Amino acid sequence: MSGKATYKTFKGGIHPPYNKELASGKAIRPAPVPSEVFIPLQQHIGAPNEPLVKPGDRVELGEKIGASEAFVSAPVHASVAGMVKDITEVTGFTGAKVKCVVITPDAEQPEFTKQDRDITALSDQEIRDIAREAGLVGMGGAAFPTHVKLTPPKDKPVDTVIINACECEPFLTCDHRVMLERPHDLVQGLKLLMRAVNAKRGIIGIEANKMDAVDAVRGAAKGEAGVEVDILEVKYPEGAEKMLIFALTGRKVPPGKLPSEVGCLVQNVGTAVALYEACAWGKPLYERVLTVTGQGIKDPANLLARVGTPISTLIEACGGFAGQPGKVIMGGPMTGWAQPDTSAPVVKGTSGIVVLTSELVDVGTEEECVRCGKCVDVCPMFLLPNFVVQAVKKEQWDRAEMWGALDCFECGCCSFTCPAYIPHVQYVRKAKAEIAALKRR
Ligand code: SF4
Ligand code: SF4
Repeated sequence: MSGKATYKTFKGGIHPPYNKELASGKAIRPAPVPSEVFIPLQQHIGAPNEPLVKPGDRVELGEKIGASEAFVSAPVHASVAGMVKDITEVTGFTGAKVKCVVITPDAEQPEFTKQDRDITALSDQEIRDIAREAGLVGMGGAAFPTHVKLTPPKDKPVDTVIINACECEPFLTCDHRVMLERPHDLVQGLKLLMRAVNAKRGIIGIEANKMDAVDAVRGAAKGEAGVEVDILEVKYPEGAEKMLIFALTGRKVPPGKLPSEVGCLVQNVGTAVALYEACAWGKPLYERVLTVTGQGIKDPANLLARVGTPISTLIEACGGFAGQPGKVIMGGPMTGWAQPDTSAPVVKGTSGIVVLTSELVDVGTEEECVRCGKCVDVCPMFLLPNFVVQAVKKEQWDRAEMWGALDCFECGCCSFTCPAYIPHVQYVRKAKAEIAALKRR
């Protein structure tokens, strides 16, 4: 028998140029400590934190510096030892002003003092409490507080925890490196997640372009009851929650529902490792692995960067720009945020900085729809993106909703494939805002 191996997947999606070879071979190294760190008090979906420090205070590495009493919230911690210089608003990666604790780091930074805790004896509630106290949030970008995700509704028990190890966004390689360099910690993090929700099954889903990671993680998972490593087709957005759940379990999350509806919990690679660090070492989430890459970066790398580090420090650490930068993106090119400058600080959800040269930035201008149907073919949610756009252009919000605007999770496949350069996601965002405003009336 011959032919290509087939792997689990979903219907729709696209195959953008992946460009992962720029950084996938680069071992994780620590990023430099910047001259000032800017730690946003809110880095999660949920209630904002109040500062626990004031200008002039001394803070130690890992000290809690912002917290909230609200359940849906996650505290923030100092990513350096130093002096609090200010508490002020700076422009964050979304362009909105964010309140930050500004710290001037000491010239010499201490190593984090790891505790040596027995994680085998932790109860589900203890794991949730540790996740909360350590400020854990989803590190794939959405930044939902982890302890909340680990508290599914009582009538929706979770039987399967899935680690989203696809890393389906082009360019990014940080999860790939973490799997290669810390497979044991990833598997132990998954086991803690399983214990927290009392799930018997854990699946680590890895795309087929990372077979070395598959081998490493399979090695670490050997003999661990209920833990499986599964290989997925290389396709964007294979790592989107609903697509991943369907590909790995055949279960379909209904529109508007969460993974717990079908007994699943999905967590990112970085989050699982951070939970292991919090439980085994007592380490809060104040630094993360991210990728600085793109043809516009001289020396692409995977860096362990402290939360609050300005993008500019990381770009300098990678040799600076190569040529004229056309676009600086925080996150991956499909779902990331274009940056007007390089001042925004790294947050817990920052998976990468991608710099595209001006030649690579597609400057096509929007034209009329030619009714080719490509956007419909690629939409993984089976929506009609072209119809949504037409409805938005006519300000017919009820029709935009009928064609599925609210079910769109903004993956960008439709815009990527459209020969008429129609920015569907922008239209969808407008539709969502208008529909929400109408519902509030
Ligand atoms: S309509 Fe939404 S979900 Fe469908 S391809 Fe476009 S961005 Fe993705
Ligand atoms: S891909 Fe673009 S041109 Fe083709 S049907 Fe969709 S919106 Fe129209």
